[in-house]
Amino acid sequence: MSKIITAGNPLLKETAQPVTVFDKNLKFLLENMKKTLYEANGVGLAAPQIAVSKRIFVADDGVSGYDEYINPVWTPVGDEKDIDVEGCLSVPDLYGEVERYKEVLIKYQDRHGKKRQKKASGLLARCIQHETDHLNGILFIEKAVSLHKGKDADE
Ligand code: ZN
Repeated sequence: MSKIITAGNPLLKETAQPVTVFDKNLKFLLENMKKTLYEANGVGLAAPQIAVSKRIFVADDGVSGYDEYINPVWTPVGDEKDIDVEGCLSVPDLYGEVERYKEVLIKYQDRHGKKRQKKASGLLARCIQHETDHLNGILFIEKAVSLHKGKDADE
């Protein structure tokens, strides 16, 4: 498991670099990210969160299963948005309501460099938008309409 860096670390503000080489080192990094995601009980983890400035995130929403997203680009499906609570492994103990698109189409590459795409809604769609923000140096606390210490707004 890798150490997860937290808000205030300048690495979280950087724009991550595209992955161009799909080799053993990438596989090793992905295995490490997967392990770190599960040990931290996260829904998603972006490479910059373990201080690796590459356009990669891993996610498991508990419904559609684990997947690895390399060089991801998403576009909204329709223009419906909703507001729900989010947290982040890099922002311990802080939660906030963030507006996100309800459904997105994500295009990405797998660990072999093969191009893939999928439609996502619900938690996975929210996760995809949150994690892609990490690759662009953006944290959810910059977008949240409110922030609080517990998962519920009244805590
Ligand atoms: Zn996050």
